[in-house]
Amino acid sequence: MRILKIQTLRGPNYWSIRRHKLIVMRLDLENLAETPSNEIPGFYEGLVEALPSLEGHYCSPGCRGGFLMRVREGTMMGHIVEHVALELQELAGMHVGFGRTRETSTSGVYQVVFEYLNEEAGRYAGRAAVRLCQSIVDRGRYPKAELEQDLQDLKDLWRDAALGPSTESIVKEAEKRGIPWMQLGARFLIQLGYGVNQKRMQATMTDNTGILGVELACDKEATKRILANAGVPVPKGTVINFLDDLPEAIEYVGGYPIVIKPLDGNHGRGITIDIQNWEEAEVAYDAARQISRSIIVERYYKGRDHRVLVVDGKVVAVAERVPAHVVGDGRSTIAELIEETNKDPNRGEGHDKVLTKIELDRTSYQLLERQGYTLDSVLAKDEICYLRATANLSTGGIAVDRTDEIHPENVWLAQRIVKIIGLDIAGIDIVTSDISRPLREVDGVIVEVNAAPGFRMHVAPSQGTPRNVAGAVIDMLFPNEQASRIPILSVTGTNGKTTTTRLLAHIYKQTGKVVGYTTTDGTYIGDYLVEVGDNTGPQSAQLILQDPTVEVAVLETARGGILRSGLAFEAANVGVVLNVAADHLGIGDIDTIDQLAHLKSVVAEAVYPDGYAVLNADDPRVAAIAERTKANIAYFTMNPESELVRNHIQKGAVAAVYENGFLSILKGDWTHRIERAENIPLTMGGRAPFMIANALAASLAAFVQNVSIEQIRAGLNTFRASVSQTPGRMNLFNLGNFHALVDYAHNPHSYEALGSFVRNWTNGDRIGVIGGPGDRRDQDFVALGKLSAEIFDYVIVKEDDDTRGRARGSAAELIIQGIKQVNPNYEFEAILDETQAINKALDIAPENSLVVILPESVNRAIKLIKARGVVKEEVSQQ
Ligand code: ATP
Ligand code: ATP
Ligand code: MG
Ligand code: MG
Repeated sequence: MRILKIQTLRGPNYWSIRRHKLIVMRLDLENLAETPSNEIPGFYEGLVEALPSLEGHYCSPGCRGGFLMRVREGTMMGHIVEHVALELQELAGMHVGFGRTRETSTSGVYQVVFEYLNEEAGRYAGRAAVRLCQSIVDRGRYPKAELEQDLQDLKDLWRDAALGPSTESIVKEAEKRGIPWMQLGARFLIQLGYGVNQKRMQATMTDNTGILGVELACDKEATKRILANAGVPVPKGTVINFLDDLPEAIEYVGGYPIVIKPLDGNHGRGITIDIQNWEEAEVAYDAARQISRSIIVERYYKGRDHRVLVVDGKVVAVAERVPAHVVGDGRSTIAELIEETNKDPNRGEGHDKVLTKIELDRTSYQLLERQGYTLDSVLAKDEICYLRATANLSTGGIAVDRTDEIHPENVWLAQRIVKIIGLDIAGIDIVTSDISRPLREVDGVIVEVNAAPGFRMHVAPSQGTPRNVAGAVIDMLFPNEQASRIPILSVTGTNGKTTTTRLLAHIYKQTGKVVGYTTTDGTYIGDYLVEVGDNTGPQSAQLILQDPTVEVAVLETARGGILRSGLAFEAANVGVVLNVAADHLGIGDIDTIDQLAHLKSVVAEAVYPDGYAVLNADDPRVAAIAERTKANIAYFTMNPESELVRNHIQKGAVAAVYENGFLSILKGDWTHRIERAENIPLTMGGRAPFMIANALAASLAAFVQNVSIEQIRAGLNTFRASVSQTPGRMNLFNLGNFHALVDYAHNPHSYEALGSFVRNWTNGDRIGVIGGPGDRRDQDFVALGKLSAEIFDYVIVKEDDDTRGRARGSAAELIIQGIKQVNPNYEFEAILDETQAINKALDIAPENSLVVILPESVNRAIKLIKARGVVKEEVSQQ
C-alpha cells in the first residue's frame, strides 16, 4: 500500500456538508488491489488481536461487530484502513465516527475519508492505520509496543493542540449559540464572529478588557493601595527590596503570622503563607525573590480561600478553593494516598485538565512537619492532611462551588471592586472564614484581583453546581443576540464566477457597506486591492471573514479550494451556482460532470436555512441542486417561458428573469423590472447573453439580501468591466476600422457563451484566433473547432507557448478535425505561434469586422492590439 496524498478538510465539503473535519487520503492498494480481506491468510485474526475494540464498529450491517463481519467475509483494504484510522483516534480519546471509502477511476486507488478532531492527529492516524494493516498483511500481527507508541503520540498531539479549559468553555458556548469562531494563529487569539461584528479573546481577556485594568491588577501592591483608598478591606502589608528591611516590615504588619509573596507573581508561585518565625521568613523571602525583585510582606489572615468571578459588572460564580490534601483510609501512607489521588483522570499537568496533579514542594514538607507527619505516616480514616498552604488549583487544590452562599453585601463589594480596578472579567481572591457573612464582620480581606481569571473551577468544580460562566462572557460580547456574523455570499459555477462576484460586490457597494470580495484576480476590500492572486479558496475567504472592517463578504468559490480543504465557513447567507459544464474533469478525482455538479452543490448546500440558494434554472444540473439544499430557492433564467420558474414563482417564491429585453425580478404575480439589458454595460449592449445571465444571478443574490431594486439598478448601470479590472474577460477594443475582442474562454461551455455574442455581431466579418490550454481533453479541442467553424467566417488556429505536455501541433490538429466536421471546405489557416497568429489576424481584418482572440497570454494579446493604436477600449456597446 502507498499513500499518494493526504488532504485535510476544514469546512463543508464534497463528502459532507455537516462534517467539516475530514482527512481525505488517496491510497494506492498496490498488490492488495485485487485481494479482499478474506483472502489474506490470518488477516482477520491479526486485526482482531491488534484492535479488539473494532467490535464496536457497526458499519453497513448496522449492528455491533458489523464491520468485523465485513472483514471476515471480505472487504477491500481501503475500507479497513478507514475504520482503523477512526479506531486509533477513538482509543486515544478523540471521539470520531464518520468515514467513507470510494474507489477512484484509477483502479486500485481509493479515497479513504475519515473524521478527525485534531488535524495532525488525523493525518497521523491515517498513516498509522496503513502501517498497522500492512504489518498484519505481512506478518500477521502489529506489535503491541508499536500500537502503544502510536496511541501515545496521538494523545500527545491531541493534548498539545487542545485549547485551555477557559477558552474551551467559551468557544463551546459560542458554538451552542451559532457564533462562528476561529484561531488567529498568534498569541492564542480567538476570533468570535466575522468581519466588522467580530470580537476577540485571549484566554479570558476580551477586546473589552482595558490595558489599564490589567496592568493594575497585575501589580498587587498598587491594587491593594487603590482598594484600601476606596475603603475595601485588604491585608495590611508593605513592599521591600532587601532582606535587611524584612524585620521592620514584619513589625509593621503586626508580627507573625505573616505572608511573603512576589510582587508580580501568579499561580501561587513563590508564595509562603502562615509564616510563624524568622527562620521560616528567611526561607520564604528567598523563595519569593526567585520570582520577583520586589517582595510583598503582609499580615496573614486565617480563613478559607474564595474566588469570586465577576463578568460584565456582575458576580457570576463563587468558588472556594481547598488546598491540595489527601484523606486517610486508615491503611495507606501519605505518599501512597498522594499517588492514589493523582491517578484521578481529571488531574493533569498544569492547566490542561479540570484539576492538577498534587506535587510537593518546600512548603509541603514544612506543612507536614507542622502537622507532625512524614510522607510515610499512615492517616486515620477520614483524617485530612493538607499538603499545600495555598489553594491554587494549579498546585493541586480543588474547588467547591459557593455561588449560592455568598452574602449580598459581598456581592456588592465584589462588583464595586471590579469597577474600581476597571476590568470586564475579573477573579477576586477573598480570604474569609465565612463567605456568607459580610467581610467586615468576620475580618475577611481581598487578597488580590486577577485579570484573565481561569474558569475551570467554576465550570467544573469538584463539588457543587457547575456554573455557565462562559455564557455570561458571550452575553457581554454579543448582548441581546447582537449579530456576530456578516452576510456571506458565495459564488460558484464553471464560468462567470469572477464576473458575477465583482458585479455582486459592486451592487452591494451601492448600499454604502464595506464589501470584502475574493476573485481569481485578487482579494479586495471596498475599492482597494488587498492581495493579487488566484484567491478563490478558503484562505482568501478567511482573510475577508477575519477583517474587522468588512461588513459584507462576497466570495468567488472555485472547485479547487472546495476539493482541497472545503469551505472556509459553516454556511453562507446566499450560495450562487451559475452553471456546471465540463472543465478540469479528471483532476482531483472529479471525473464526471455529475461529480462536478455535486462538488459545486456544496456552495448551495452550505447555506443557512433562512438563506438562499440562487440557482440557474436553465442548467438542469444546477436546477436539480434545489433538491439537495435546505435553504430557500431563488432561480434565474434567460427563458421567460421556463416552466420550472413559472411554477416556482406561482408558489410565491422569487426569481430573476430576462423578459422582453429587461432584467426583472418576479415574485408571486408581480414583476419588478430592474433595467433594460442594453443599458447595462456588462452585457455589451445586450449582445452577450451569458453576461445577462451573470447579471441576473448577481441581481437576484442582492435582492434576496434586501438590497433595493434602485441600488441594484445603480450597480448594474455603473459596473464597467474595464480591461484593467477584468483583463481577459470580454475586453473589446475599437481599432477604428474594426474591433478586436480578447477573452480567455477556455472550455466548451464558455466557447458557446462567447459564440452567442459573436453571432450577434452583424456589422461585418467574424475572425477567430483560437486555441486552448494543452491539458484539456482531446474532445474539448474538437468541440472548440466545431464551434469556431459555426460562428466565425474565418479562423486562425494557434497553440499556447506552453503545451502542458501535449505534442506540439496535436491540439491544432484536433481543432482542425472539429472544423472539418462542420464543413470540409471551411477556410482557415494554422499558425502555431500565438504572436504571429494574432498579428496576422489584425493585419487582414476587413472593415467593420470583429477579431476574436482566445489567447494564452492576455497581456501579450492586449499589447499587440494596443500597438496598433487603439481608438478606444469599449466597455459597452450602446
Ligand atoms: P493566583 O494567581 O492563582 O490567584 P497568586 O500567585 O496571584 O495566585 P495570591 O492570590 O496573592 O497569589 O495568593 C495565593 C493564595 O495564598 C491566596 O488565594 C490565599 O489563599 C493565600 N494568601 C495570599 N495572601 C494571603 C494573606 N495575606 N492571608 C492569608 N492568605 C493569603
Ligand atoms: P475561472 O474559473 O477562470 O476563475 P470564472 O468562472 O471566474 O473563471 P469569469 O472570469 O467571470 O469566469 O469569466 C471567464 C470567461 O468565461 C469569460 O470571459 C467568458 O468567456 C466566459 N463566461 C462568463 N460568464 C459565463 C457564463 N455565465 N456562461 C458561460 N460562459 C461564461
Ligand atoms: Mg490569587
Ligand atoms: Mg474566476
